[in-house]
Amino acid sequence: MSANRLRLEQLEMRGSFIPRHIGPDQQQTQDMLNSLGLHELEDLVEKVIPANILNHEPLKLTETISERAVIKYLRKMRERNQVLVSMIGMGYYDTIMPAVIKRNLLENPGWYTAYTPYQAEVSQGRLEALLNFQQMIIDLTGMELANASLLDEATAVAEAMTMSRRLAKSAFDTVLIDQDCHPQTIAVVKTRAASLGYQVLVVDPYSDLEQHDFFALILQYPGSQGEVRDLTDCVALAHRKQALVTVAADLLGLVLLKPPSAFDVDIVVGSAQRFGVPMGYGGPHAAYFATRDAFKRSVPGRIIGVSKDSHGQIALRMALQTREQHIRRDKATSNICTSQVLLAVIAGFYAVYHGADGLRMIAGRVHRYAQIMAAGLLHYGHDVVSLCYFDTVIVRMPNRAKRIAARAVESGINLRIIDADTLGISLDETTTRNDIRTLWQVFSSPGFDLPDINALDKLVSECVPDYLLRNDPILQNPVFSRYHSETEIMRYMRKLARRDIALDRAMIPLGSCTMKLNAATEMQAISFYEFNAMHPFVPLNQAQGYQQLFAELEDMLCDLTGFDAFSLQPNAGSQGEYTGLLVIRKYHQVNGQGQRNICLIPASAHGTNPASAALAGLKVVVVACDANGNVSVEDLRAKVTQYQDTLAALMITYPSTHGVYEQAFREICDLVHQHGGQVYLDGANFNALVGLSRPGRIGADVAHLNLHKTFCIPHGGGGPGVGPIGVGAHLAPYLPDHPVVEGVNPAKGKQGTVGTVSAAPWGSASILTISWAYIAMMGATGLRQATLTAIMNANYIARRLAPHYPILYTDANGWIAHECIIDCHAFKKTANITVEDIAKRLIDYGFHAPTVSFPVADTLMIEPTESENKTEIDRFCDAMIAIRQEIREVEEGQADQDNNVLHNAPHTHRLLLEEWRLPYSRQKAFFPDSHQHDDKYWPPVGRIDNVYGDRNVMCSCPLDWGETV
Ligand SMILES: *Cc1c(COP(=O)(O)O)cnc(C)c1O
Repeated sequence: MSANRLRLEQLEMRGSFIPRHIGPDQQQTQDMLNSLGLHELEDLVEKVIPANILNHEPLKLTETISERAVIKYLRKMRERNQVLVSMIGMGYYDTIMPAVIKRNLLENPGWYTAYTPYQAEVSQGRLEALLNFQQMIIDLTGMELANASLLDEATAVAEAMTMSRRLAKSAFDTVLIDQDCHPQTIAVVKTRAASLGYQVLVVDPYSDLEQHDFFALILQYPGSQGEVRDLTDCVALAHRKQALVTVAADLLGLVLLKPPSAFDVDIVVGSAQRFGVPMGYGGPHAAYFATRDAFKRSVPGRIIGVSKDSHGQIALRMALQTREQHIRRDKATSNICTSQVLLAVIAGFYAVYHGADGLRMIAGRVHRYAQIMAAGLLHYGHDVVSLCYFDTVIVRMPNRAKRIAARAVESGINLRIIDADTLGISLDETTTRNDIRTLWQVFSSPGFDLPDINALDKLVSECVPDYLLRNDPILQNPVFSRYHSETEIMRYMRKLARRDIALDRAMIPLGSCTMKLNAATEMQAISFYEFNAMHPFVPLNQAQGYQQLFAELEDMLCDLTGFDAFSLQPNAGSQGEYTGLLVIRKYHQVNGQGQRNICLIPASAHGTNPASAALAGLKVVVVACDANGNVSVEDLRAKVTQYQDTLAALMITYPSTHGVYEQAFREICDLVHQHGGQVYLDGANFNALVGLSRPGRIGADVAHLNLHKTFCIPHGGGGPGVGPIGVGAHLAPYLPDHPVVEGVNPAKGKQGTVGTVSAAPWGSASILTISWAYIAMMGATGLRQATLTAIMNANYIARRLAPHYPILYTDANGWIAHECIIDCHAFKKTANITVEDIAKRLIDYGFHAPTVSFPVADTLMIEPTESENKTEIDRFCDAMIAIRQEIREVEEGQADQDNNVLHNAPHTHRLLLEEWRLPYSRQKAFFPDSHQHDDKYWPPVGRIDNVYGDRNVMCSCPLDWGETV
């Protein structure tokens, strides 16, 4: 037998996804283990992980399934979803994503694998795309300022409410919400208001405002049932009462209708879904948030602003309260961290591609068809209630609404059933003449002739009066008229993508953010029509594929975490935190312990933790950390004793953001339980536990997972995210439900739930296929191997860097978990070099910096994940070591204290346009190591001036990008 002959089992291994996901191959793994003094990966279990947190029960997860088999399985699943024409409306509309955007953006890792643009110099592409989004929102709403997305329309309204509370002069704690808001919006507002102690009144704002005192008025425009109303009087009255007015507005409607700013409203929010983003059974989509310039310092979420770089050129970065939660903690304006960047980018490009005329054509057609459709129904003698509408028409059919809706389903159309007597019909960009004829047929009695669409088109007159139509120009910035041909927009998307460092270019070693591979096979199902074209409120029997996906994913997550139930509703980690704390509060209330309102949070916690606790109506008490970065058990003991009658919860991140498995986790949980509290685990670092330890079995009562960290949903440049929460059986009855779709929480009991926390019943449903595919392809063995490899990679980096940089925290034996913090504070004294300088110098080496100054000031937190192999990790370590040498040159006086490679980083091509005046060579500036020789990353801008940008806040598109500021 020839030595080269492969054995059958080796040949069959070919199908496994595990070595595709895990970076280091066998040889590299062996080399790295050797350098750590270990023999095999499993040795890490004993060396690094506390014995009392290890899981010894076998998982129910199956073994690895091949990439091909996973797609085959998902195809079967999608066949169980039945996509009908949706005329349900209620904030979700079918739309056409231009193929050029789908192929070059949604399916392009240059866009979807990028991180939140904290390192602005390597993020100019997506920052520009987001600035276009903001400009579009500013134009359509008529407001002065817009942010770069929120999670969904309903939570955006809730954010508007809390912002109104901070800004309104009214002393009353009542919120009025229009009965004609979408039901999911009303539900989310009620949930949020309840925890903050506000009263919510659902009213008809056009008749009974005068009698109430309130700080916020929330309107929908057009109304959920389609009516377009003049808001002037409502707004004036609310302002007389010292209240602020929020309008949830339909973006496509705003193309034709008078902008909300014309009514003098204070805040405009809504969904950008129908600008080219598929419904996806509820998400993800970008919400928008626009307001007055005067309120800019109170805006939730992130705002992209214009500033200048070291050459005086225009450069973009996140403005104002970017890391606000980390600074203001429980006083933060909002807990939003991950939002919906990729979806905002898509919506922005939709407007760039269509331009003002294109959007007017699309909106005009939807509106015209709606009027023709209504005229046809009138022709049959139906009671069309709507008078002034954009795309939604209400028909009264006493006692027959359900029957007609069922007939519509038989003809392939879903209608909105408002009540037994009333139906809603919403049209959209995809509605065809055929759809209208089919609908007429549903409503007609046998024997009637169908009206002629062309004849009706001539008869129908505009139903919206002139004073409610807009006549101002929109989308005047040149960006909205330059890229209407496919060639031009394709090149524009490529130009922007090239400016950014995403995972398609280099490792992104961001601690706590887990920038691992987002595999192509995992991404595939989000493009399946049967997954992305579903409206979230269709009858459940049409969505059996999705229901299967949820059930299977929940089972997988329960298996991995040891919890008994999951809610998939929260749209990001922050939302999971908020929801989990609400569940804990509800549990205490049901047990007659409503006074329990103290939330203990270690000093090292992520800023969203205290911000979420405040939103959930809890009082934050900080627990100290000891010199090793661990929760101080002594301080915890003191605090739980002090607050034993009022302790609601401890929020703890495990392993902590200090990158070490603390030994006392179980002891900590026991202490909290003994004093009547519940344990909330921030599971952002679950990548260090998967397959090894199950939080639900070692003391945690609730945990959120960040599926966009541990479970491979790409970061999208700052969203989408999914933050499901797992809970023990005692908390399952209180998990969120939904006002429109029944059965979202099957364990719901007599005591009710916490309410609703997202607009859609299962949150960002369509991207759950990504995590499902990852878990299925890795299986129990692969996931355990991934976790151990992530730990090995981090420890390898720590070993390589330790001779050059102090490693801030290790356990008693020198080991770390899946990330490592290096301490850079000393260089300030020895060389006047900051951690920022190091981060920017890494760009010259072609790298995105690690996490800067979190959780400890003047440090870098490095997380390689399991997906990076030894070659890439060595390249990164070489760069870090070379930078340490550059610092030494300053320390030893070989390089200038001010004019040196670190202070001047990143070095841009602009320097080549001038005479070379720097005291070091071009080679040293641009090609500090050999790795960059054949594939140099050129940063498009030099160091960005943040202070200038925050002093001169500008959040719209410049007219001339070549301008020097
Ligand atoms: C990322 C992160 C969060 C916030 O999650 P989002 O999905 O961004 O809202 C919370 N805690 C920790 C430790 C994190 O790393």
